[in-house]
Amino acid sequence: MLMELPASFDPYRAATANEVIKNQFDSQGLERLKQSVLSIGDEPLQVELEFSTDITGRSYLKGKVALLVELECQRCLQGKPYPLTAYLDLVLLRHEGQVEKYEGESEPVVIEDDGLDLKTLIEDELILALPIIAMHDEDCQPWQAEAEPEISKAEAEPERENPFAMLAQLKKD
Ligand SMILES: [Zn+2]
Repeated sequence: MLMELPASFDPYRAATANEVIKNQFDSQGLERLKQSVLSIGDEPLQVELEFSTDITGRSYLKGKVALLVELECQRCLQGKPYPLTAYLDLVLLRHEGQVEKYEGESEPVVIEDDGLDLKTLIEDELILALPIIAMHDEDCQPWQAEAEPEISKAEAEPERENPFAMLAQLKKD
């Protein structure tokens, strides 16, 4: 069984150590994400995160998380598999006062010393990465109709001669 993402994690220590998290995690505990999609299946959550610091000592969390989910197509209301991916580029700041002063490109997140709830953060990022409207790429119904060629194929096949019928024919002679 796969591990869940930690709900309490020291990101500043991880940043100082240039820690990398590259692993698969359990996706079944992502209850809020589950409610935002049709289903999340059995696929594991793919996590690639890098903690780092810059020369000024600021801590960063960058990377991506990915999970195959099923969304409802807004046209035919059937399920549509969707590779949900969230890209993270966060600067970790210890209090609000630092957010105003921060002028870099990364998205500021305030995390006090006691720890980062990595699970909640990742789930938030995945929910934010959901498309506003999900739809099959092509027309929904014709695609399904074309996926049933079995009958016509059977009809097109020429009838094979029955070897037992041939035996019966020989016996008669
Ligand atoms: Zn559709």
